[in-house]
Amino acid sequence: MPNTTCDLHLHTYYSDGRASPAEVLRHAASIGLKTVAISDHDSLKAMRESINMAAELGLELIPAIELTTRWGLCSSGEFNDDPPLEVDLLGYYVDPGDQEFLSFVQASFNDIRQRVSECCALLTRAGYPITIHDVEAENPRYPGPMRIISTLEHKGYANSWNNAIPLFTAQWPHVRPPKLSIEDAIQAIHTAGGISVLAHPIAIRCNEEWLQAEQLAPLVDAGLDGLEILHPSMDKEARQYFRSLAKQFELVETGGSDDHGWPGGFSRMGSELVTYDMVRAMYQRSKQYNN
Ligand SMILES: [Zn+2]
Repeated sequence: MPNTTCDLHLHTYYSDGRASPAEVLRHAASIGLKTVAISDHDSLKAMRESINMAAELGLELIPAIELTTRWGLCSSGEFNDDPPLEVDLLGYYVDPGDQEFLSFVQASFNDIRQRVSECCALLTRAGYPITIHDVEAENPRYPGPMRIISTLEHKGYANSWNNAIPLFTAQWPHVRPPKLSIEDAIQAIHTAGGISVLAHPIAIRCNEEWLQAEQLAPLVDAGLDGLEILHPSMDKEARQYFRSLAKQFELVETGGSDDHGWPGGFSRMGSELVTYDMVRAMYQRSKQYNN
């Protein structure tokens, strides 16, 4: 049984998940979830495809997205030679029919495709010939980083998924950073009526250190609305730390399982203790961006 009736971080095959939106929603309903958000990377396609089905299944579906952005966090002060970080920014309650936002999301999708293509060229030079078309053959809907790893495995350059990961991680840092700045992404989410949330903030580090209050402050000034506190990558200590940061800056707290439906089914879905009070606070916060 899941821990909760809410899961606000799920993926489908419109980004790096395995399953269709229908399969994700059916599973969510079957384990007793009531409120879900499909937060695909750089795509709202699952959202648009899911609205009717979610209603039929009695699920509350919160429109969501996870944008791939760059943040110049470590490019100032003592780390000023460091390239921008790649940071995932969640958006909730965005209007999935907003044409301006849809073209913004399409640009973000085009950018990740170009960067994957660049990574393929680097891998080829390193002795692992691979093209963007190979990656698209793995998933034509979203040729993202995860599919580079599965392509490397399926081409026989590694004998398992786990052994293919280092081949990818050796090259990915040499690919240019995303074009989309996190500040612009926050603005675009607001314009589409949504709130912006830093996904799994434990992954954002300068010099191995967790994000500090003084580093977060400029992003709050830029309009950041929340932090994802409940995520499988964050242990108790991390949750406490980021919860205190959220409180300090009056940010909303969100959470979800980040279930990708693989390798072995939806093993994580519903595992994070997301409460309906959290959902309500997110919705309240989003109201200020609706006009
Ligand atoms: Zn995610």
